Amino acid sequence: MTAGSVPTMLAYNGLALDRAPDRRADTDWITARRAHPATRVIAFWHDKFLPDAHPTATADAVFLGLDGDTAVFAADLPDPTGEPHDVRALVSSLAPAEAATLAYARGILHWHRNQRHCGACGGPTDARDGGHTRQCRTCGKLLFPRIEPAVIALVTWQERCLLARHRGAAPTAWSTLAGFVEVGENLETAVHREVHEEAGVRLADLRYEASQAWPFPAGLMIGYRAQAAGPRIAVDHRELDDARWFTRDEVWSLLATHQRTDSIEQFLVGTWLAEE
Ligand SMILES: [Zn+2]
Repeated sequence: MTAGSVPTMLAYNGLALDRAPDRRADTDWITARRAHPATRVIAFWHDKFLPDAHPTATADAVFLGLDGDTAVFAADLPDPTGEPHDVRALVSSLAPAEAATLAYARGILHWHRNQRHCGACGGPTDARDGGHTRQCRTCGKLLFPRIEPAVIALVTWQERCLLARHRGAAPTAWSTLAGFVEVGENLETAVHREVHEEAGVRLADLRYEASQAWPFPAGLMIGYRAQAAGPRIAVDHRELDDARWFTRDEVWSLLATHQRTDSIEQFLVGTWLAEE
């Protein structure tokens, strides 16, 4: 974030494709779309985007959706063609809809590469529904794309916000607190636990702000604004080097020395700064 600007749109959230979930199970329709000359195939290799590769849509290409009448597929190539690009490194040069499409493609192709065998019986699995499920050949178990939810919270106390420096991070790398949701937790419980676990801060109030697709490789970030019950901080040094309260002026100074990022953290902090 540059001084004076507050982001209003979260990177990777602007998908413009029609996912057409009602068409995915229609094998004939998917096959015809794969063979159609206007079909777009987005190529990846080991989680990296290959803008110079233009493969045909083979049987394992994943149907992402429709761009108007044009079907868009994603294909994982065994070898790179041209220069492979990291999607996050490209994001500032992409239109929001294209960034969202590439993140979506990266996430679903990553899932396929890691679900070739059944977790229950070890049998081989095959893609179904245009690549939106897989099924075990041996026991029939259905596998669905995995999404791993994580909560992230901007915690405030009066006119200050809580930022932490993770162990091993650069001296100026202050960030909001975040963590994965654990089994059996709801989102709010996860925020209370993370903030207390890492910074020893109890929360008096919690409010949902926004969420962000984060398929790097399988995340979904759920962002909250939280009010601390008091200013006391007790840092857990297993995870953090330090945590403290920052005024808005101090946060602006930090931002001036930082590169723009693509994460929801910037949105949460930016929204708070704009309330000045
Ligand atoms: Zn199985």
